[in-house]
Amino acid sequence: MPFVDLQVQHQSLSLQIRQATTAVLRRTNFILGDDVERFEGEFAAYCQTEHAVGVDSGTSALELALRAFEIGPDDEVITAANTFMATALAISHVGATPVLVDADPCTYTIDVQAIEAAITRRTRAIIPVHLYGHPADMDPIFEIAERHDLVVVEDACQAHGARYKRSRTGSLGNAAAFSFYPAKNLGACGDGGMVVTGDARLAATVRLLRNYGQREKNRHLIRGYNRRLDTLQAAILRVKLPQLEAWNERRREAARVYGALLGDSGVVPPAEAAWAQSVYHLYVVRAEDRDGLRCALEEQGIGTGIHYPTPIHLQPAYADLGYGEGSFPVSEAYARRILSLPMYPELGAEAVTRVAAAVARYCEAAVAASPAL
Ligand SMILES: *Cc1c(COP(=O)(O)O)cnc(C)c1O
Repeated sequence: MPFVDLQVQHQSLSLQIRQATTAVLRRTNFILGDDVERFEGEFAAYCQTEHAVGVDSGTSALELALRAFEIGPDDEVITAANTFMATALAISHVGATPVLVDADPCTYTIDVQAIEAAITRRTRAIIPVHLYGHPADMDPIFEIAERHDLVVVEDACQAHGARYKRSRTGSLGNAAAFSFYPAKNLGACGDGGMVVTGDARLAATVRLLRNYGQREKNRHLIRGYNRRLDTLQAAILRVKLPQLEAWNERRREAARVYGALLGDSGVVPPAEAAWAQSVYHLYVVRAEDRDGLRCALEEQGIGTGIHYPTPIHLQPAYADLGYGEGSFPVSEAYARRILSLPMYPELGAEAVTRVAAAVARYCEAAVAASPAL
């Protein structure tokens, strides 16, 4: 059983995808064709926001959103130490400095209590990450942002369709970034991303930034980039978007079955906060002997992942931030214990039951083998 399987989903839609891509190939409107604009409208509506701008990746979405807010050198941007590397890279690539904060031990999202202490005169923005599909606790984050006049950019790259209270991720911040990397909850057949926002001016700036700074051909208002969403990917994503709700519901169902079976197995299943509706991009448990468990599952043909084995501040690329070992105890302790079990919409209750049984067997054997205290 693979950790993630994209084949079943692709096969179930392959006819529609072929029709959609054939139409693009026939029209040859490969760059910013109609499908891009249509998908932007459809995705904005799905996120309950006004504007969406298609870009070439989630990393670009974060970077262009920060640029559109004119965040750059001398600025600091606060984010979580336990996020995917791309969150920090986007901050660095606009010339700003990532300032890291530890994770909340229950939800794995940014520790809201620790944000305020990280704010300096140079802080301009906070990037809460809806990690593993579980939304960050946005209300207190906004309260802090308002008090310190900071911008909030959601990293929603793992959380298409998740809800914080009644609202969709993507509709919460001043802007949000999504990724359509193939394995995300809504994935393209290649790279893609989206900036969504309720701010018309910000959307217009991102539109310029993604397309050489031009609104009309050969008139360059600002020094933009080439960061457009491909028409082919947009056409494919338009086929997939109507399925997203059902896919997310199946992920939630798989999570319910996992949760019921893993309750007292010896691993810690993920918790969903009362105000959250997670879309379980990943199903991450914690185990004392993570590496042993991982090997045992591997031997039974069960694929797993680790998201992520090294927090940002311990990555060689960020040694110069000067944090060092011990700076973020929750992130560091969890990096050694977390294990992502198989999770995708087509997984099904039977496979979940098999994985959960294998996990429980390993934990029982480990308890039996350990010397009595
Ligand atoms: C995937 C991801 C990104 C980057 O998206 P890409 O499309 O791969 O560039 C950023 N942040 C998080 C949390 C992600 O999971």
